[in-house]
Parts: sequence; structure tokens; C-alpha cells
Amino acid sequence: MNKKILFLTGTRADFGKLKSLIRAVDDSPLFECSIFATGMHTLSRYGNTVEEVYKEGYKNIHTFMNQIHGEPMDLVLANTIGGLSRFIHEDKPDLIVVHGDRIEALAGAIVGSLNNILVAHIEGGELSGTIDESIRHSVSKLSHLHFVANKQAAARLEQLGEKTENIYVIGSPDIDIMLSDKLPSLSDAQKRYNIHFESFGIVLYHPVTTEIEHMREYASQLVRALIDSGHNYVVIYPNNDMGSNDILAEYKKLEKIPRFRIFPSVRFEYFLTLLKNAQFIIGNSSAGIHEAPVFGLSTINIGTRQQNRFFHSSIYHVSNDYSEIIQATKNVLNTVRREPCFSFGLGNSTALFMKVLEEGAIWQTSKQKHFQELLPR
Ligand code: UDP
Repeated sequence: MNKKILFLTGTRADFGKLKSLIRAVDDSPLFECSIFATGMHTLSRYGNTVEEVYKEGYKNIHTFMNQIHGEPMDLVLANTIGGLSRFIHEDKPDLIVVHGDRIEALAGAIVGSLNNILVAHIEGGELSGTIDESIRHSVSKLSHLHFVANKQAAARLEQLGEKTENIYVIGSPDIDIMLSDKLPSLSDAQKRYNIHFESFGIVLYHPVTTEIEHMREYASQLVRALIDSGHNYVVIYPNNDMGSNDILAEYKKLEKIPRFRIFPSVRFEYFLTLLKNAQFIIGNSSAGIHEAPVFGLSTINIGTRQQNRFFHSSIYHVSNDYSEIIQATKNVLNTVRREPCFSFGLGNSTALFMKVLEEGAIWQTSKQKHFQELLPR
């Protein structure tokens, strides 16, 4: 078959979802695999996570710095389109694979569709808040193939006018790794990250770009509640969306308190081990919605970022208000671990993804898209 497949990764958030798919394609004799690593991955302030991509030992990795710190998101989008477009004119992939709802994925979908290259979108059809909601659906509209987490996501794509036969339900690929035997032990994770406490919550809180003017106040309420709650915490930096400086400025208050260990980013498998062994996760990360329920872990989900995404008895929704947050940190310790929840997949996404690529029909997918009507006119 010998098709060239290009994966685009811009953050730790998409890399955890893509890495098992990349591994399978890179190992397959049927495909030539390359990776375009950009975005937050290349910023030292956010942990220079491109190192994690290199550590995997993939054969062809191309790094592109698409931003300087603080550059507006629309300009970063433009930069990424420029860099990727130049790259694909050399590399000439048959398929570009993008994930999720970040501007790097949007750049990938724009460059692919404008150059008549097939685009596959992983985890379209989800709901979220902030600008992510609009970006994710835009990426789906520019993509030719969709690999989604569940039937509800597939139905939303049909509602967007996407063709049923181009939508594949494979689950969320991070669950493959969550349920594998590849996770390090808790003591390994504690040693590697110098975490000296046994009981802890995980804090992962991102800006909401559409509520930018309130971000400093929101972060201040959260930080005060974390301090007053008396628990131990592993705190992980937010992503680099507009407003992240406000959160990082508030996190400075935690730096000298021994109950807090703060990291720009934690390697995916180690993050999962910490998540598996935490008392709860607090913030507004997709990890609290997609991943924590797989381990039966409770989530305190703050604000609107994950609005309407998924409802489960282990997820407590609170506002950005100090009193609601502190009350939730008290209540959450009285809850028991739930049964694992598999609403976003069973841990076999990589096998399902590879089956579709290997069967071959997708390579005939038309690059001319046609809107699918739900109701006869
Ligand atoms: N993650 C990771 N290391 C970290 C924090 C998160 O590998 O230090 C992974 C996590 O398991 C999840 C994804 O990144 O798969 C979620 O990331 P994040 O909260 O940054 O972004 P979101 O998906 O909410 O936009």
C-alpha cells in the first residue's frame, strides 16, 4: 500500500491521544509515518514537551516553532498554516491526521483540505466551552474522515452534515494506554517527580478564552480554595491559551508551600499513574471528564470549559466561586471510588484505527465533500 501518513501534534493533550496510533503506523510495513511537532511542545515555559515526542523513537519527526510566548492565537494559526504548508509540499503525505480542538489541528485541516490531501480528525463531535467548541467543529467540517469516541459524537457529526460512512467509532485512544500494563508504579512516579506525599489531588485548570476578563479573579478564587482546603496537590500548568498568564501569576502563591508540587507538564504515562492514585482531580481539563471516570476517580469540574460535555456521577460541577470550590474539596473526600466508566471507549482504539487504514477503502474517499441532509427537503 505504502501510503504516507503525517500526524500533527501541538500539545501534550493531543500527543497522549495520538501516540499509540503513531506507534502502530510507524511500526507498520504498509505505511510511511511522519510527525509534525509544533505548538506548546516547542515552548520551554510549558515543559518543552517535544522531548516526549523524540523519546518515543519515531523515525521521521519534523519540529516547527509556530509562536513566541504571548503571540495571539490567530497569528499562531497563521504561522502554523505557513510552516505546515511548506512542509507538506516537500513531504507530500496521502493523509494528515489531526486531533481535537486546538488551532494546530485547525491549521492541519485547512492545509490538508486546501491541498487536496485527505484529513482525518480524531475525537470530533465532542462538546466543550471556550473557543475550543468552535475550533473542533470547524476542524470536523474541513476533514474527510472522522474517528470518534462514541455514538453520541458520531451523531453530532451527522448533525453537522458529515457523511455517516466516513465516521468511525473507535473510542478515545488514550484509554488504550490507561488500560495497558505500560503505566509506571506510583512509587516510580513519586520518585521521578519528587512527590513526597501519598494522598493528593491533581490540579489542572486552563483559561477560558471567552471569559478572559475574569481569568485572574477565577484563578485567585481557585488558589485561595486550594490553600484553605488543607489537602496536598500536584499542580500542572495550564495550556498556553490567552489568559494562561493570569493563572500562572496566581500559582506563584503556591510555590513555597510544601503541600503543593507544581510542574509545567508531566509525561503522559506518569500523569496517568498519578491520576489513577489521586484522591480527586480538580480544574477544567478534559482529563477530569474523559480519563478520571475510567479510573473511577472523582472530578471537581470548575466553570464552563467542559460545559455539556459529559455527565457522570463522579463529576461534580461547580462555578469559579471560592465557597463552591472549597465545599467541593470537602465533599469529594467522602465519596467512594466508582466502577470504571467506558463511555469514551474500551481501550481498543488503535486496533480499530489500524483496521480502517489497512482495509483500504478510505484511500478512495472523495476530497469533494457533500453536505448530508438529515431530513428530506
Ligand atoms: N496530560 C499529560 N500530562 C500532563 C497533563 C495532562 O499527559 O501533565 C494529558 C492528559 O492525560 C490528557 C490531556 O493531556 O490526556 C489533557 O490535557 P490538558 O488538560 O492539558 O488539555 P485539555 O484536553 O483539557 O484541553
